[in-house]
Amino acid sequence: MTETITKPAKLTVPPRTIMTPGPVEVDPRVLRALSLPILGQFDPSFTNIMNENMTMLRQVFQTQNHWAYPIDGTSRAGIEALIAALIEPGDKMLVPIYGRFGDLFVEIGERYGAEIHTLDSEWGTVFDQEAIIAEIKRIHPKIVTLVHGETSTGRMQPLDKIGSYCREEDVLLVVDCVATFCGADIRPDEWCIDALIGGAQKCLSIPSGITPITYNERVEHIILKRKKVERGIATAEERKRSTGLPIRSNYFDLGQLQDYWSERRLNHHTEATSMNYALHQGLELVLEEGLDNRFARHKLNEKALMAGILAMGLELFGDPSCKMPTVTCVRVPEGINADQVRRVLLEHFRIEIAGSFGALQGKIWRIGTMGYGCRQDNVLAVLAGLEASLIRCGAVVRRGEGLQAAIDVYDAAD
Ligand SMILES: *Cc1c(COP(=O)(O)O)cnc(C)c1O
Repeated sequence: MTETITKPAKLTVPPRTIMTPGPVEVDPRVLRALSLPILGQFDPSFTNIMNENMTMLRQVFQTQNHWAYPIDGTSRAGIEALIAALIEPGDKMLVPIYGRFGDLFVEIGERYGAEIHTLDSEWGTVFDQEAIIAEIKRIHPKIVTLVHGETSTGRMQPLDKIGSYCREEDVLLVVDCVATFCGADIRPDEWCIDALIGGAQKCLSIPSGITPITYNERVEHIILKRKKVERGIATAEERKRSTGLPIRSNYFDLGQLQDYWSERRLNHHTEATSMNYALHQGLELVLEEGLDNRFARHKLNEKALMAGILAMGLELFGDPSCKMPTVTCVRVPEGINADQVRRVLLEHFRIEIAGSFGALQGKIWRIGTMGYGCRQDNVLAVLAGLEASLIRCGAVVRRGEGLQAAIDVYDAAD
């Protein structure tokens, strides 16, 4: 038998304009940060970077919380870490669901043994906060979880009233702001949100794989009380003081992670050094731009995109009064194959937009205007590409009008 020597496959990454709700394009400065040399995880130069990341995360989360640090893993790792910390089997968890990411809370909660109570709102809408408050009153859960920006439907849940009620009733409020973090305003301290999970590959615009979280003293108190495992790193004294069951996950044990992110620097897992460089660079860029400017940039590009879509003769999906500024959902015209249009757009324009899930699959496209990719040139490119691809696939559109309407929005803003 003769052995054939095959050459290793060559890595090929084509250029793309990504206009999905994530992952999105990354600023070249973040890509450069990823190529910096590795540092040891206890090297003072690296622990200094960790401390700076915590300081910047507090600023970007707009919170006074002491704990603001990243979890190594994608955004659901942050969600899972908080659920693992807060839920012991049998604890009641209320999950208002208005899209697919509400279901993710249910799934993770179930795995940790929560007694789940759900509340449903039709996809394309959000909840009246009073309805959630009434349900909290009825069920009296240990925690309520909510999604701030539901990427699957492009809706944003108002959150300014629920937290203060939760606080009065000694209920914890946990919010997934993965898709709005660095793209839309969220006020954990004013709105009494106890824990938040932010995102990396969305409006912060760094690669997927690290997840900023923050939580307050109410959450920390629970974490510190959880039973310490026998062979873990806790002292005998700490083990004696702990009660209940240990956190079910080693990887997501926020008690141990806190000890690594504090000056104690107790070893847990090997920190993802390069991802911390990317996070650092990404946060620097956000703070350099300024949060208010960044939110305004997202609003402006959203406005131009919506104007273009409507002028083209297309319709938007969902209740406009609760639209997410970072995701725009467009109805697929009758008789048009949604995936075929996406394929033409990708092949000929190298532009990617997203489809949707469940009942909305084939019915809507989702266009993300997030972070680094949220720019005038990208919005105009996606409008031009979408129009051409629609015509190619047999749709009737008002030719040229979408682009002109979008340019009008930009001109009016100058
Ligand atoms: C993208 C997204 C997530 C999931 O993130 P992963 O990084 O894929 O784990 C969770 N919640 C919302 C609202 C999202 O948009």
